Amino acid sequence: MTSQDELESTQLPAETEAALERAVESAHRHELLFSERAANIKQSAVRDVFDISIRPGLVSLAGGSPYLKSLPLDDLGRTAERIIAEHGLEALQYGGGQGMERLRQQICDVMAAEGILDADPADVVVTTGSQSAQDVAAKVFCDPGDVVLCEDPTYVGALNTFEAYQVDVQAIEMDEEGLDPHRLEQRIKQLLSEGRRIKLLYTIPSFNNPSGITMAAERRQRIVEICRENNILIVEDNPYGLLRFDGNPLPPMRAGHPDDVLYLGSFSKIFAPGVRLGWALVPRHLHRRFYLACEAVVLCPSPLTQMLVSAYLAEYDWQGHLVKTRELYSERCASMLSALGQHLPDGASWTRPDGGFFVWVTLPQGVDTYPLLYQAIDAGVVFIPGAAFTPSDEPSNKLRLAFSAVSPEEIEEGIRRLAPILRAAIEERSSRN
Ligand code: PMP
Repeated sequence: MTSQDELESTQLPAETEAALERAVESAHRHELLFSERAANIKQSAVRDVFDISIRPGLVSLAGGSPYLKSLPLDDLGRTAERIIAEHGLEALQYGGGQGMERLRQQICDVMAAEGILDADPADVVVTTGSQSAQDVAAKVFCDPGDVVLCEDPTYVGALNTFEAYQVDVQAIEMDEEGLDPHRLEQRIKQLLSEGRRIKLLYTIPSFNNPSGITMAAERRQRIVEICRENNILIVEDNPYGLLRFDGNPLPPMRAGHPDDVLYLGSFSKIFAPGVRLGWALVPRHLHRRFYLACEAVVLCPSPLTQMLVSAYLAEYDWQGHLVKTRELYSERCASMLSALGQHLPDGASWTRPDGGFFVWVTLPQGVDTYPLLYQAIDAGVVFIPGAAFTPSDEPSNKLRLAFSAVSPEEIEEGIRRLAPILRAAIEERSSRN
């Protein structure tokens, strides 16, 4: 019996059948109302496998979740209770659209730890995670058809955001030192000669998600110059900057370039993603438009979580927590690199990140990692296929592995389960030659 037969043979109560008919009819009518933009809104591959990855017994090397177990949860619970009991009328009320002044000052201290020494709290806008800041940047700067440049590969959430604004995302291949200024310049020249309008360069210069690659310090300066010469605004997304394993973050592109870089930061990786707080440090001449667009979307960032984060920064040893988690991520990264070295077949190569959450594996040309995901799930391990991280529809021979949320033992086990699948795919590929 097909599922169609099954549906038809099911006796539904008359009122359920009528409700079903109404729903189908509404769906047809409302289909006509969707904006063209809505057709471009995709579910991220990372979210796709999110539900699968929490199945018991599976080792998930898929999601880039931060490690939260070392947070002082009992103390934070008491702090949250105090905030509501003593400042509830502020914490539970609407707040200013730009975010609380005290938190914006503290955000400047966090940025100082990253190497941005001249940030003014007046230029900071607190956002609902860095994700919403990306959305606002696209909204404020991009019309349909405009070009946004980015690294290949890049963060899937940013791709989804830009594509939803009907932007033409042009991804530029990286080497082991990140975006290559020469390649960037050539692509800009070519696009301009075709009459295209390039608005933004979206970049994750430190520990790029998904590749773990970091843009070399010398390249950062040159890329800012190229973008300035071509009137392209840089959107620097730096949620992992403070997670450099050796504890010495590289100066962001924004350091020393207050007018040319829109800088995005986040509390998701250095504290907790559940507070949904990030920020934008906006060049002063762009600040008003950016802030008004943020306000139009969320009215104000959550005062309650702003007060919690503010208390965390003021009353807790947040730098000490960072030292501990950096060490933990460094250990996990080392476990992953060692397991890859031990188990992966010839023909596979991978990046060696200095920080962040991810390792990027490359298989020989012609191997498509998407179908391998299903085999991996059957074998008890999950990863994200590389195709998720590029605007191209071509199959990808890459895959992303996250080490942030799994113990060294699970990492070893996960790679051990993954290796035979990759080996078989590589052998199958070479037998086709
Ligand atoms: N940018 C990058 C590069 C990310 O990896 C992520 C989350 N994985 C985000 C932005 C979104 O972060 P947030 O939780 O601050 O919205």
